Amino acid sequence: MKKYEYTASAAWLERAKKVLAAGISSEFRKYNHPHALFYTHGSGTKVYDVDGNEYLDFTLSQGPLILGHSHPEVLDAVKNASLKGQLFAGQHAMEIELAEKLQQIIPSAELIRFCLDGSEAVQTALRVARSKTGKSKFLRFEGHYHGWLDNVCYGISTPSPEAMGPRDSPAMHPWTQGLPEGAAEESFLLPWNDLDLVAKKLEEHHQEIAAIITEPVMCNNGCIPPKAGFLKGLRTLCSQYGVALIFDEVITGFRLGLGGAQALFGVTPDMAVFAKAIGSGYPISAIVGKRDWMEEIASARVIHAGTMNTGNPTVAAALATINILERDDPYPKMNALGERLRSGLRDIAKVSGQPMLVSGIGPVVHTGFTDLESAVDFRDVLLFDKAKLKTFVSRLHDRGLRIIGRGLWYISAVHTAEEIDQALELAEEVLTAQD
Ligand code: PLP
Repeated sequence: MKKYEYTASAAWLERAKKVLAAGISSEFRKYNHPHALFYTHGSGTKVYDVDGNEYLDFTLSQGPLILGHSHPEVLDAVKNASLKGQLFAGQHAMEIELAEKLQQIIPSAELIRFCLDGSEAVQTALRVARSKTGKSKFLRFEGHYHGWLDNVCYGISTPSPEAMGPRDSPAMHPWTQGLPEGAAEESFLLPWNDLDLVAKKLEEHHQEIAAIITEPVMCNNGCIPPKAGFLKGLRTLCSQYGVALIFDEVITGFRLGLGGAQALFGVTPDMAVFAKAIGSGYPISAIVGKRDWMEEIASARVIHAGTMNTGNPTVAAALATINILERDDPYPKMNALGERLRSGLRDIAKVSGQPMLVSGIGPVVHTGFTDLESAVDFRDVLLFDKAKLKTFVSRLHDRGLRIIGRGLWYISAVHTAEEIDQALELAEEVLTAQD
């Protein structure tokens, strides 16, 4: 077995710490194994670090690289668009083409606005909901990540199951210091997948609630699919009470199909947010909503702006990504590889006697360590054995296989069955290893 060492990255990190806060540019990069690493290049399913280590990559850079690293057609599109200019402080034709595509493929996409990332798109959708309904709060769910901005920094960093608080009124643990007074009061929080609790909260507080925001699959914690009827139930309740239903499709968008989770589950939200995979690694996100909601922006009752929105190369990257996904239709293959990985991991768990729960949907796979037979919400996920997971992820990493630290694996359009089998071999070795 090749020995993976990280000495060059460690030296780069020391140098970086003198100029970059903690040596990094996003908090999540700190939690790499064994510390923040520095990468040199990526190609297809592989990524390389400054120590010369090669990784079979299942992080897809936290999701965006649905076509793998450095897809030649995406890079060509970016290069050609860049040669015509970066940004015009004005519109250009490719934006219309891109929006027309989204309108064709995403059920809720009657009108669209583009911005740069998931966090700001989420905030824009919430602003639209507040403006149209004249109400100020929103309802969200434990364990669902909607970005790092103030009002969504609760319910994702609860330290222990005991600290969760009652199910009908969970504790609001802040993820960060520095939140403005009142940030916690902007939302109601509930455990996910419990329609009765949502119905009760709406019955009591619908006059205050402008929106319900949910990941349609709780990809950020445990990759838990919605219970049968849960999303439909949310749809019905939102319509009944005049509340916007917002799907945060930052992860599910383009991953569970071009139409996102809303097409897969047949539930159309009022607005949805897409980011990550739509730009293949370039900074673009979209708020895609029903016309009567998006009219808030069209009429400028809600202001949405951004100097850097829809740069030429960025839009070119998104268009190329959609065109490739439409042309090649990799979804049956990606889903089959997801199933191959899930069932292989389950077999290995059985053989090794390890309490590994394998879950997920389509090309998203999750591995958690627990005796539970299934998980339905964040309260279950908090019971998982973090130390076991850390060992699993670190050992895989030391053998050249990179997954997201919280146990998440993303399969791209360019992964192969051989690579899944290679990953399974490594997982088996790791689950039985003594090192
Ligand atoms: N929503 C979801 C579901 C996410 O997973 C993320 C990021 O991981 C975000 C929103 C925030 O997106 P960004 O990091 O692009 O701001």
